[in-house]
Amino acid sequence: MIAEPVSQHATPAEEAAFLDRVKKFVDDYVWPNSLAWENDQLPLDVFKRCAEIGLMQMTVPKNLGGHGYSCKAYAEACRLLATGDPALSMNVAAINALCTAHFVEFAHPEQREKYLPGCLSGDIQLAWGLTEPDAGSDARQVKTVAEPMADKPGYWKINGQKMFITNGGRAQLIIIIARTGEKELSAFLVETDQPGFKLTGRIPTVGVKASWTAQFELVDAVGWHTPCTFEQAIGLLQRGRVGIAAMALGIAERAQELALAYSKQREQFNRRLCDMQSVQNMLADSEMEIEAARLLVDKAARIYDDHGDVVKAASMAKLYSSETANRVTNRAIQIHGGRGMVPEHRVEKLWRDAKLTEIGEGCSEIQRMIIAKQALR
Ligand SMILES: Cc1cc2nc3c(=O)[nH]c(=O)nc-3n(C[C@H](O)[C@H](O)[C@H](O)COP(=O)(O)OP(=O)(O)OC[C@H]3O[C@@H](n4cnc5c(N)ncnc54)[C@H](O)[C@@H]3O)c2cc1C
Repeated sequence: MIAEPVSQHATPAEEAAFLDRVKKFVDDYVWPNSLAWENDQLPLDVFKRCAEIGLMQMTVPKNLGGHGYSCKAYAEACRLLATGDPALSMNVAAINALCTAHFVEFAHPEQREKYLPGCLSGDIQLAWGLTEPDAGSDARQVKTVAEPMADKPGYWKINGQKMFITNGGRAQLIIIIARTGEKELSAFLVETDQPGFKLTGRIPTVGVKASWTAQFELVDAVGWHTPCTFEQAIGLLQRGRVGIAAMALGIAERAQELALAYSKQREQFNRRLCDMQSVQNMLADSEMEIEAARLLVDKAARIYDDHGDVVKAASMAKLYSSETANRVTNRAIQIHGGRGMVPEHRVEKLWRDAKLTEIGEGCSEIQRMIIAKQALR
């Protein structure tokens, strides 16, 4: 008898159970604590808690110790997390799409054996380091240089600076994109517990404040090479952008939920706000844009899961969803009036958090460039 091939992907039932766990985690733990986290940072054990319910194993197939969830389930988890705390959503999205996925795609077995179990259990915290002072949207301008070590095959000496690295001040392991030749770039596993890794500070940000956004220097830091080209390494941004789009969707949904509830309860001129046509217009526009964003996110995730060309769909989902989140949160503040600017009403935080989605993993202008290039092919 021929054995059935074992699927490395989760079943629909496994994904449904996972998303139920994420929803409960958000309702019971993330949303109630999110305001307090903003004043400091995400709890130190948060990724272990995430790992317990499957959030750190989303993009890793079962044979490598993960859960093999679809892009649809990954996006749904990022959306749900963002309804509770966008900073946590951003971290989980980036770690899964750019870090653990990097191990799946480019690490060799020895590297996976050494690090992957700890990454999947949340014991090893991760970050992904591309951006530098002179290399942002124009990522190919990376100046960090890697040179092979003659006495240590597979290992390279790395020198340079990185900035805006999510979770970079807490990570034990960072995937560093560095220059390996005049025109070539590749990626390296860099342990932060070494003299060559010099954390130079935490960058304060207007939104996603609980996230540890780091800048650091690499001074003869030792990195373990994961063979891949620059295009392959940043190709992971396709699923990453679906995750950020879903994060933006979650922000918009929560803001709209709060705006709807407030508009039903607040009265002025002897009428509820929700009975005023100008307020209804704002609510209607937000409702429609959220629905359109949801369709774009779903479509991009479906194309990814079907192994289609997701470049245009991922950029459209990210662009539209992030701009929607910014419009919807702005309207939610407007509907709350003065109270919209008070933290306890929670919409001002969502508005500040939404801004990141228009900038991180490629700003809106870059998404428009990508979409236009695809359309003009
Ligand atoms: C909170 C946070 C977390 C981040 N996390 C990470 C991370 O984990 N890892 C990482 O590597 N990076 C990370 N980043 C960096 C992020 O990806 C960059 O900020 C982003 O790619 C934009 O680069 P830049 O900030 O250098 O802006 P620049 O490239 O200097 O661009 C500034 C502005 O110029 C305009 N612009 C730029 N290029 C063009 C163009 N070609 N056409 C038209 N307009 C253009 C846009 O309006 C853009 O917003 C993070 C950033 C933030 C704020």
